[in-house]
Amino acid sequence: MSLRIGVLALQGDFAEHMAIIRRCGAAACEIRRSAEIADIDGLIIPGGESTAIDKLMADNQDPIFDTILTRGQNGMPIYGTCMGSIFLAKEIEGSTQGRLALMDICVKRNAFGPQRFSFETSLDIPVLGPQSFPAVFIRGPIIKSVSSDVEVLSSIDEGIVMARQKNLLVTAFHPEITDDLRVHQLFLSMVSAAQKTLPVIK
Ligand code: GLN
Repeated sequence: MSLRIGVLALQGDFAEHMAIIRRCGAAACEIRRSAEIADIDGLIIPGGESTAIDKLMADNQDPIFDTILTRGQNGMPIYGTCMGSIFLAKEIEGSTQGRLALMDICVKRNAFGPQRFSFETSLDIPVLGPQSFPAVFIRGPIIKSVSSDVEVLSSIDEGIVMARQKNLLVTAFHPEITDDLRVHQLFLSMVSAAQKTLPVIK
């Protein structure tokens, strides 16, 4: 049975993640409500705007964020891209905005300046193999510090741009708008590994 990946579709570029997950051979579904989270194997939180999610957290009547938090704490793999990495972080430099605070990282938002300073670069990501990765940064954050059980998967001069902690994966850049499937394939391998460690219900 193919893996079923939910993509949080409350804001941001969720459509691109849906498309790339399908290209990787897994099923993708849009997530807008808490009840839709019950039967997914992994979740992607796309890029967008973290202050918009902060507002949604305050206004939303549906317990979607509590459900994501609980499933994340119980080991469901979650991949946060750009805004998603901010939303997963325990600490956001200089901000008290709402977040899931699941991952032991401290991020700085808009670390490269405004939209016009968006850029593309070739990243060295050893866990993906020797070929460099075409990384697109769009008003992205930088990961300023991580705790000792966070694996740093890629860095540039300004700081860390990709990291993993147990079931959580974050990138400060946007692989979903490139043709390179490797970051999503890495996430799917985490989802598949998490399936194997789940208890078998008889
Ligand atoms: N700058 C946005 C924020 O702080 C993130 C941008 C993105 O996700 N591309 O939330």
